[in-house]
Amino acid sequence: MKYDKRNREALAKLAPNTQRAALAWYEYCEAIGAELLITETIRDLATQKANVAKGASQTLRSYHLVGQALDFVPVTGTATDYNAYARADIVKAIAEAKRLGFKWGGEWKTLVDKPHLEYPYTGYGLDKKLNPAFVPVLNPILTTKKEEDEDMAKLESAQAQFKPFAQTIIDSYLSPAWNKHNDAYKAALAKGDKAEADKQLNLRNWQNQLANAARVAAGMEKQ
Ligand SMILES: [Zn+2]
Repeated sequence: MKYDKRNREALAKLAPNTQRAALAWYEYCEAIGAELLITETIRDLATQKANVAKGASQTLRSYHLVGQALDFVPVTGTATDYNAYARADIVKAIAEAKRLGFKWGGEWKTLVDKPHLEYPYTGYGLDKKLNPAFVPVLNPILTTKKEEDEDMAKLESAQAQFKPFAQTIIDSYLSPAWNKHNDAYKAALAKGDKAEADKQLNLRNWQNQLANAARVAAGMEKQ
């Protein structure tokens, strides 16, 4: 993201729960390579009054005043581009913002405001204190590299803990059962009992499938 420092400084000014959702959105934008500049987040009342006076806004009840809105513009090269909201990556970014619970000003019925994303949270002006239990409506589709590494470490740790149990199940039950059915299979073949041979072969293969399921759960190679 070319304007990462500016963007993060802008996001840092948002109300806490809005900020959390906006960061999830921003990380999604980074992951898909959607270049953009966040031009404004929180706004003071004097600026808002000036915006209304010049027709850029229609309300003094702006979500920017309470830190629950941000404005962004697509970036092409190093230049901001207010005509690029239909660009594929920006369309995806907007869809993700909506999925996370933002409302997009590009869909306003009056005074279409394409740069604008606002986060209703639990209501206007109610996002004042970080709620640890609160998460964005949905988690972002893409996790960060760090989260993936952490998840993988947890999985590997769980597999390592399960490994001795898996080995015990295989050694003390599944392998002897495999041998028993294998012997019975050979005996049935020797007697020319095809139905019994097929049955024992199926049972033998079933022990192998169970053993492989245990191996996979323990992070071991199938055999
Ligand atoms: Zn706005």
